[in-house]
Amino acid sequence: MTERVPEAPIGVAIIGGGPAGLSAGLQLVRANRRIAILDSNRPRHSATLQSHGFLTRDGASPLELRRLGREEFEGYPSAIFAQAMTREVTPLTADEARAAGFPDGIGFRVRGTGIRGAADVEYIARRVLIAAGLTEELPPLPMIRAYYGTALHSCVECDGFEKTDKPLVLIGETADLFARALLISRFSSDLIVFTNGADTIRAEQEAQLSAIGIRVERRAIDDIVGEKADMTGVRLADGEVIPRVGGFVRPRWNAPVEFMGELPIERDDWGLVVTDERGETAVRGVYAVGDIVPPGPQQLIIAAGNGARVAAKLNMDMIRGALGVGLIDE
Ligand SMILES: Cc1cc2nc3c(=O)[nH]c(=O)nc-3n(C[C@H](O)[C@H](O)[C@H](O)COP(=O)(O)OP(=O)(O)OC[C@H]3O[C@@H](n4cnc5c(N)ncnc54)[C@H](O)[C@@H]3O)c2cc1C
Repeated sequence: MTERVPEAPIGVAIIGGGPAGLSAGLQLVRANRRIAILDSNRPRHSATLQSHGFLTRDGASPLELRRLGREEFEGYPSAIFAQAMTREVTPLTADEARAAGFPDGIGFRVRGTGIRGAADVEYIARRVLIAAGLTEELPPLPMIRAYYGTALHSCVECDGFEKTDKPLVLIGETADLFARALLISRFSSDLIVFTNGADTIRAEQEAQLSAIGIRVERRAIDDIVGEKADMTGVRLADGEVIPRVGGFVRPRWNAPVEFMGELPIERDDWGLVVTDERGETAVRGVYAVGDIVPPGPQQLIIAAGNGARVAAKLNMDMIRGALGVGLIDE
């Protein structure tokens, strides 16, 4: 199937069709804006079969949630959904933007490569919203992917309940491991924190964890072991296998914004895209929302809620931009 390549300029080009992008898109088409969502169809939670905690959809499959969201968005005549990987976002000059009908002289050219047989796309848009989520780098253990999304998870709020009272792991090499261990202790005190040889838990933190029955294992890990689909333990580099049935892993996250090229997007220490409280990045006219902005990955309902919040700011920005009355919306 080929995608429509529109002639008319777009209000907002949204990069990413997850809950953040779809929710923003829905609000904006309902504000009578012409909106294009470009989506490369690689949602972060594709590893899992059930998603939890989204009010009215607790336990729904993540794919079903996306399908429903896309269907609702595409129910509006000014909605365009393109299956495309965004390759390039380039600013228009003020003259080019005005010539495109953008009264405040701000605009962007957004190019994407079609995926799954869809055509390449190119949009001229007044504003850009980055809702591209995060990509994950799991600790380099050969079998870890086989258990990720079933026995091993990254979001404690999303999957902690199902782990209640089980013998669990927390595997990670980052400085927030202690805080995560405390969070998991709500679900099970039979928890071992594996630092995989990294020096990320301080001695006094280890003592605090020990006081609530949580052990810290500092030896390097060889792999996750299991029988068929079931995880049964963690094998250390010295050969010892510690029996465990599942738990949590702390991936490293990368914000995939190569399409911004040389544009000066500001990042925080974790590499996430920094915005002001309205959701606008350091590049005027480019907004960001969802897992890609600090504090990083949260939940589907939070991504969707923030998508709606930032959509309202974008809409007001365009109204004010057309009238030349500044940004502050009080
Ligand atoms: C294994 C796992 C299980 C989870 N379980 C739950 C759960 O049970 N409950 C819960 O509430 N949350 C859960 N989460 C968290 C939840 O998935 C995220 O918080 C949520 O998906 C974030 O939404 P988002 O819209 O910001 O990003 P995403 O959902 O990741 O969507 C981003 C979209 O942008 C697209 N994209 C990226 N780059 C480009 C580009 N250059 N061009 C075009 N498109 C692009 C991607 O293909 C993707 O479709 C889970 C996460 C993981 C990893």
